[in-house]
Amino acid sequence: MLESTRRVDTIVLDKTGTVTTGHMGLHSLVLAEGTQRDEALRLVGALEDASEHPIAQAIAKDARAEFGRLPGVDSFANRQGLGVLGVVEGHALIVGRPSLLAGRGMHLPNNLEQARRYAEHAGKTAIAAAWDGQARAIFVVADTLKPTSVMAIARLKTLGLRPVLLTGDSQATAQAVAAQIGIEEIIAEVLPAEKAEVVERLQAEGRVVAMVGDGINDAPALAQADLGLAIGTGTDVAIEASDLTLISGDLRGVADAIRLSRRTLRTIKGNLCWAFAYNVVLVPVAMLGFLNPLFAGAAMAFSSVFVVCNSLRLRRFQALGPDEPAHSSHTVPRIPNPRIVGGRHASQ
Ligand code: ADP
Ligand code: MG
Repeated sequence: MLESTRRVDTIVLDKTGTVTTGHMGLHSLVLAEGTQRDEALRLVGALEDASEHPIAQAIAKDARAEFGRLPGVDSFANRQGLGVLGVVEGHALIVGRPSLLAGRGMHLPNNLEQARRYAEHAGKTAIAAAWDGQARAIFVVADTLKPTSVMAIARLKTLGLRPVLLTGDSQATAQAVAAQIGIEEIIAEVLPAEKAEVVERLQAEGRVVAMVGDGINDAPALAQADLGLAIGTGTDVAIEASDLTLISGDLRGVADAIRLSRRTLRTIKGNLCWAFAYNVVLVPVAMLGFLNPLFAGAAMAFSSVFVVCNSLRLRRFQALGPDEPAHSSHTVPRIPNPRIVGGRHASQ
């Protein structure tokens, strides 16, 4: 594990819950002609109430706040990474990625298609809802960037790592978020089951991959990576699957973890080198009888003291301050100040 941190050249970051807070909020609701807002929020809210997905919970929460009790759901089905299906008050509903609807021949009318594009270009997620065979609403959902993500990405780049944003969300949404935090490489619209395969593919290209995630959908990818880092807000399964767990949800800790493990490795190598040098020089000298056993004993003891002292220097390791860039000969990329994406309270 330590050895791999030295060679890591790529760091894959999960978007939702890792780069962003993962606390979704319903930002707006756009309706097709002839569809009533109350009906849309009640039916879709009821269906989403049966799902544990953070997007679903955001929609259900607003619906509950408005209507109190929500109608029950029959024949509920979850399509991992795509959306949900079910029957509410006799209407067959499909809610999720627009492609889930398109796969059943339901296409977005113009105004909804426009709302989807507009939302995604702003880094938000557009959830399509259809019932009775027609696409009828777009729910625009968003969470906010963690305020520390921009600095964290800058530090990782300074350490020579190439950041990659990985998400099940749409390409356009991922691109907007990536642009705001200074990531150029994006792998989007990846189903939960495919996330580990993405890591494997990068490895097949000869890249040594660290992966940071919160464990929602990405535990197998954490396990597949050469170095898996679970962030503290993560789930038990993430902690289980990862090599390192960062107690705080702060991504800047990832750069510190990599710096610390690189330094630890350097120290171990330094220790080995010294201990080896001692023996190479002093054992033959002793064999030839030129070494007073008293000195030999002292040298042996000193060797151990040296290793311990050298290792204790690691205790002086300090995490970087909140706004300090990591030091390196690489040039630090200029990255604009963090802008907050989406969320109802965001200033745009
Ligand atoms: P991420 O990689 O960002 O964690 P997921 O793989 O969990 O995302 O989901 C990918 C996409 O699938 C979401 O952006 C959303 O469009 C859709 N989706 C998944 N589950 C639901 C749901 N319960 N309700 C609505 N949309 C969903
Ligand atoms: Mg996720």
